Amino acid sequence: MKYLILGAGPTGLSFACYLIKKGITDFLVLEKESEAGGLCRSKEVDGSAFDIGGGHFLDVRRPKVDEFLFEYLPEDEWNVFDRDSRISVNGNMIGHPFESNIWQFPIDDQVEYLKSIAQAGCNTGAEMPQKFTDWITWKLGKKIASDYMLPYNQKMFEENLDNLGTYWLEKLPDVSFEDTLRSCLEHHAYGKQPGHARFLYPKKYGYGEVWLRMAESLKDKIIYNTKVESIDVENKIVNDRYTADVIINTVPWTSIKNISVNDENVYSNIKKLSYSTVVTEYHQENMDTEAHWIYYPDKKLDYHRILVRHNFCEGSRGYWTETNLERYHEKPGNIWFTNEYAYPLNTIDKQEAIGYILKVMQKFNIYGLGRWGEWQHYNSDVVVERAMNFAESLISGGVK
Ligand SMILES: Cc1cc2nc3c(=O)[nH]c(=O)nc-3n(C[C@H](O)[C@H](O)[C@H](O)COP(=O)(O)OP(=O)(O)OC[C@H]3O[C@@H](n4cnc5c(N)ncnc54)[C@H](O)[C@@H]3O)c2cc1C
Repeated sequence: MKYLILGAGPTGLSFACYLIKKGITDFLVLEKESEAGGLCRSKEVDGSAFDIGGGHFLDVRRPKVDEFLFEYLPEDEWNVFDRDSRISVNGNMIGHPFESNIWQFPIDDQVEYLKSIAQAGCNTGAEMPQKFTDWITWKLGKKIASDYMLPYNQKMFEENLDNLGTYWLEKLPDVSFEDTLRSCLEHHAYGKQPGHARFLYPKKYGYGEVWLRMAESLKDKIIYNTKVESIDVENKIVNDRYTADVIINTVPWTSIKNISVNDENVYSNIKKLSYSTVVTEYHQENMDTEAHWIYYPDKKLDYHRILVRHNFCEGSRGYWTETNLERYHEKPGNIWFTNEYAYPLNTIDKQEAIGYILKVMQKFNIYGLGRWGEWQHYNSDVVVERAMNFAESLISGGVK
């Protein structure tokens, strides 16, 4: 066949559906699970949708992506929300991002946080540090670092934080000291707000529905229950059986047992890729809040985030938690799901490692795409856009 697509998560599905839109049918998708959607799947739990891969919302920032997805789940089947996300810190609940909402603390805490930000390295002209923990303190000041950012990241990734690089931290909400002061004076959040400021969520069925509908449109082009176990790179043969002119890999490189290629450095670089595992767990009680989700840096709690289902999923009750597997304690009778591959870790040498792997693979017309193919913290709107753009450039001959 012309294209072999590994993985039927949002990236693989979008790539495949884009090919169909362009009249190309000479392809197959291999998927290890019995259904499509990857981390964006939903199951029915207690009468409503539970997004098993964690809280999943479609950011409206990419109209081209929305239009594409509306072809499968029409626009009138989605609700639109203005984000209400909060942080629970030392017994207080404030809006997110932290630096824009310090005014919601009692006055004494506001004074302490403001003093701390005023002394942060980025405001006193200190040089930007290279170590993760130092960078966070340099950017936010000691108090926000120690009360929120450091424990939160520790809980989420369960990694020695100084193994993480700083190259990805520009993704953090950018709120200047002036914005923080202005927020405290005017009691209004100033500064660049984080992603999902406005987002879409399906009226029925959960986030998994859009991907199921895409998969349905692909019919027997998806082969389910087929784990990719091996790739013979030079001959472009997968599982000793499937061959194609072009292979699009969207599954974790580390999940493929046997990649044969005449380059030892590929193996050593794959070993450098690491990831974290997240468990989602359902609770049937409603919460007394209007927030869609809440971040919990408190290390006494095993979970790091709560998704308040009854505030975004019509007709539902209850909430679910997200917990790093290493912190998770199973409670008898609870409903929970484990997502082995949840976050690709942004370790110090990751960029070079994945860059090397992709460069070698590309020589053989094998391309890594999406969250795992490129080992990046891409959200679903980003992977859909990347898949559409990449399919277009392959079709038009723009990729050599
Ligand atoms: C906790 C959490 C919250 C998130 N919140 C949001 C959000 O609010 N909004 C948002 O847009 N994005 C969010 N994301 C990101 C979103 O999940 C990803 O962007 C999206 O799932 C990436 O799609 P993908 O196809 O690249 O990868 P995946 O969804 O991981 O899909 C990969 C597919 O490959 C299959 N596979 C894996 N290994 C093999 C193998 N060896 N052989 C065959 N098949 C295999 C898997 O079963 C899966 O179907 C969140 C992610 C997490 C973990």
